[in-house]
Order: sequence, then C-alpha cells, then structure tokens
Amino acid sequence: MAGSVPRIVMKFGGTSVGDLNRIKNVAQRVKKQKEAGCAVLVVVSAMAGETDRLVSYCQEISPLYDPAEYDSIVATGEQVTSGLVALALQTMGVPSRSFAGWQVPIQTDLLHSKANLDTIDGARLLASMEKGIVPVVAGFQGVTSDKRVSTLGRGGSDTSAVALAAAIQADRCDIYTDVDGIYTSDPRIVSKARKLDKITYEEMLELASVGAKVLQTRSVGLAMRAGVRLQVLSSFIEGPAVMEGQLPGSLVVGEEEIVEKKLVTGVTCSRDEAKLSLRRIPDKPGIAAAIFGPLSAANVNVDMIVQSTGTDERTNMVFTTSKTDLPRAIRVLESVRESVQYQELAVDPDIVKVSIVGTGMRSHTGVADTMFRTLSERAINIEAISTSEIKISVLVAADYAELAVRALHTAYGLDGV
Ligand code: ADP
Ligand code: ASP
Ligand code: MG
Repeated sequence: MAGSVPRIVMKFGGTSVGDLNRIKNVAQRVKKQKEAGCAVLVVVSAMAGETDRLVSYCQEISPLYDPAEYDSIVATGEQVTSGLVALALQTMGVPSRSFAGWQVPIQTDLLHSKANLDTIDGARLLASMEKGIVPVVAGFQGVTSDKRVSTLGRGGSDTSAVALAAAIQADRCDIYTDVDGIYTSDPRIVSKARKLDKITYEEMLELASVGAKVLQTRSVGLAMRAGVRLQVLSSFIEGPAVMEGQLPGSLVVGEEEIVEKKLVTGVTCSRDEAKLSLRRIPDKPGIAAAIFGPLSAANVNVDMIVQSTGTDERTNMVFTTSKTDLPRAIRVLESVRESVQYQELAVDPDIVKVSIVGTGMRSHTGVADTMFRTLSERAINIEAISTSEIKISVLVAADYAELAVRALHTAYGLDGV
C-alpha cells in the first residue's frame, strides 16, 4: 500500500485537454494536488474530437481497415496531449515527463482496436514519482507482445487510469471530465437528472455497458476486481486539492457502503447499436452456431438476440451489434449465406437500446412491468428485450430515444427539482 504520502491518479478526458488553455488549467490542478502533499500520476486522453478525426481517416482510406495500423494511427492523439501536459507542468516549475504506453510498459494482448490489458509494470512510474517528477501517461494505448502499438477501445483512457492506479497501488483514481459526477441519467438528455454521491461498482458497470459513457465499462470492472477507489469529478469547477473526507464528485463503491438502496438507480440509452435480421432460415439444430461462431471469430460483439419461429419450419434471427462492428458483421453474414441458407439479411441502424439499472431489482417485483407500461403509454414499440439480475434493456426506434429515457426517469421517481 501507499505510505503516508497519498498516491493519486488524475485522469483528464478529451474536453478537459481540449485546447491549450485547458491543458494549462489541467497542469495547474496537478500542481495544486502535488503541493497539497500527494504523489501524483497523470493520465490523459487525446484532445476532444481528435480520436474521431483519426478514426475517420482510417475509415476513408480503408473501410475494413487493418486494426493494427488503425491502432498506430489513433494512439497518436494521446501522445500529443501527454507531451503537452508535461511541458505545461515544466513551465510551472513542476518536474514532469511523458510516458507512451510502450515506455511504461503497458502490455496488452493482440486484439487490436479493443485490446485487453495483460500486465503493467509500475516500477518506472513509481521511481519517477519518488524523484518528484510527475509522470504523464498517454491513456488508451499499450504495446503487444510483438511490439506493436495497441489501443483499448473507445473511451479506453479510463481503463488505463484504473489499471495504472492498481499497478502503483494508488489511494484513489480521480476521473476528471466535463460533468461534475455520475448522474441518474445523462444530464445532457435529462435536465432533471440528479447527481449521485455514491454508486455501486455493479450498477456503474451495468450503466456503462448500456451507454453511460462517463466511464468505460472495462474501467469499472477492473476497479471492482482490483478494489480501486474511483471518483468522477469535473475539471471545470475550480476548487482546492481533492483530499479524502471532502470528495466533490461521485464515488464508485462496494454495495456495503450504500445506505439508501433504490429500486432503479439510473436510466440510460445507447445509440451505438445496429439491428440485423436474418429472415427465413431453415429451422434445424446448429443454426445459431453457424451464425454466431463466425461472427465471434471475426471479433464482432453480438448483444441482444431474439429468435422467432414461423409455422413453415423457417425461423428468423434478430440480433444487435455495435455500429462500429456493423460492416464486419455484414461481411461475415454475407460469407455464410450459403451455409446458413437464410433468404434475406436486413440491417437497421436507426435503433437505440434503452436500459434501467438498479440493485433494488433483485428484491422487488414489478420493475419490468412499470417499464413496459410506461413505454406503451407513450406508444413506443419494443423491438427486443434483454435482462440481467440488475438491468432491463429494450430496443426501440432511434426517434424515441429521448422520450423513452425521460419517461422512464420520471416513472421510477428519479427526477430532481
Ligand atoms: P471524457 O472525454 O472526459 O472521457 P466522456 O464524454 O467520455 O468524457 O464522458 C462524459 C460524458 O458522459 C458527459 O458529458 C455526459 O454527457 C455523459 N454521460 C452519460 N451518462 C452519464 C451519467 N449517467 N452521468 C454523467 N454523465 C453521463
Ligand atoms: N481518445 C480515446 C477516445 O476518444 C480514448 C479516451 O478518450 O478515453 O476514445
Ligand atoms: Mg470518456
């Protein structure tokens, strides 16, 4: 564990390092935290919009791009900001240096564009911190066993920060972003959303996995497993150094730390969904394997699956995937057309997944009923449903996304004043 000097990881997202003035503000904040007696490790994202720009370059040159080259291109955004933050700190008299993923090193597997972390060696970072030199690590990126640059999936700097916090046994991992905490719903969609002082790892994990991009899903799972204290807070609100006992943001904690348990903690919606329908497939054993095996081999994540069978020994398979994976999914499905013998492939990208999450669902009935009734009262058609122990998700037409989220937020009594 850390000794008497608190070790804090400070992660700054894209908007927080969006221009040079903001980078200077970030450096000021880091300086203040260090002067308050903390050993600080900084993790940065690329400037807002930069990763999107780099991704669009890849897609324009090659729609089915080689993921290894994609990684070497999109990882550059973080390299720029890590250097700029280190420079800004130096000009303020704070010794600092940047670290690219390979220099730490942050070792990942070979799954380019959504690589998983293998190991992180914190020794060089700790040595730097002990000498009073603030390390500024480029988030989102790592290095594979064959020495190629890898990236951790969109929003992956959160995961870099949590993993680094675990590697250096930090006392806390602070995620600085453009909102002042985790809300009952995206405050940009639901103006009546309320800030949560605390949320459980499990609930945050589910919320993130169904669209609350305030934290990358993997970062929450990792924090839960490694026991990292995780806080989300604003980089735009001025304040003193953030010390234990006066945490201004939202803390992600174990369930035992939550006093007031609610039925539903959050409502969210994911737009990164596309619906694929395979129509009139011969209904025989092995069909699901013949469809989903090749999709999985092509690294396509499939989410909701609904199978409906007609009377003529033909079946329809409807499922969802992310919009990013859609071109790959279509290519795979076209390649198995003969073996699966489906008659038609229909693609609908104009859908969203709306979800409610809460640990209270475990012990209460009627939660699903309220959801379905609320949507039906607004004449919103449900195209697919999936559930977990603490989550219910429905697929609806994209036009209804905001209406559905707001109506559910009100129905479960989450509206603030
Ligand atoms: P960063 O660039 O700092 O990583 P992100 O854009 O990835 O920031 O995440 C912050 C955004 O997450 C907020 O601007 C907000 O619109 C969105 N968001 C979605 N759901 C929630 C939620 N439940 N609570 C807070 N923010 C949310
Ligand atoms: N820059 C990367 C992205 O936009 C990673 C991150 O910001 O967390 O997805
Ligand atoms: Mg983010």
